[in-house]
Amino acid sequence: MKINIISLFPEMFNGPFNHSIINRAIEKNILELKFTNPRDYTYDKHHQVDDVPFGGGAGMVLKPEPFFRAVADVKINLSVETTSRTILLSPSGKTFSQEKAKQLAKYDSLIFLCGHYEGFDNRIVDNLADEVISIGDYVLTGGELACMVIIDAVSRMLPDVLGSKESAVTDSFYNGILEYPQYTRPREYKNLSVPEILLSGDHGRIDNWRKKKALEITYKNRPDLLNKTTLSAEEHEMLKKIENDCTQN
Ligand code: SAM
Repeated sequence: MKINIISLFPEMFNGPFNHSIINRAIEKNILELKFTNPRDYTYDKHHQVDDVPFGGGAGMVLKPEPFFRAVADVKINLSVETTSRTILLSPSGKTFSQEKAKQLAKYDSLIFLCGHYEGFDNRIVDNLADEVISIGDYVLTGGELACMVIIDAVSRMLPDVLGSKESAVTDSFYNGILEYPQYTRPREYKNLSVPEILLSGDHGRIDNWRKKKALEITYKNRPDLLNKTTLSAEEHEMLKKIENDCTQN
């Protein structure tokens, strides 16, 4: 996947992608990251990328010209068969999710527009973005961190990025609910022991326990997810029991 990042602060991306799984994906050419600085598309003496808001108000708004030029230049270099999506980062966008990460992983190319200061002149939003994404209900100083979060989550969904060691399918959200608790060696640590069932070797019972624990954690921490996911009859039964146990305690 080719990822073009349009940012006034490309240096911010040094570090997070130079390690571990994402770095491996870059080295294996599964992922290619390119940076474009809108400031390089300003032709005035001061390379101005922002200006005061029309109508008054605090802060500076990102000017349309450098972003329109930067996006046009990035798109010229994409081949016609490439499927591409342009994402603008903004707290007023639709909230990012695992489902969105899966959808975005299907494109050959993604273009990210990172904002700063008061954000974008709305002509950029209306005319350059295929979609506007927020990473949560809080305001960051810039789109760079949000962009890194999305790239990380999307990259994990690309074939061959995760080895079996890091498999995504049992992770939280992948199937709509949170992950069951995990344990590793040693069996005993400071008098804290691993649940006996995980040592039993009985895979049927272990699967059942994990399903129940995943539902229990989801019920306690993120009950909203249970309304959005389709549960099997067996999971419905488990959930009823969990609800009962919780109301009795
Ligand atoms: N004035 C804007 C507002 O109230 O919606 C906030 C601008 S914010 C300080 C500057 C930039 O940071 C935004 O243009 C956006 O690119 C990025 N940003 C901030 N919070 C974000 C979030 N929750 N999700 C995605 N991007 C965010």
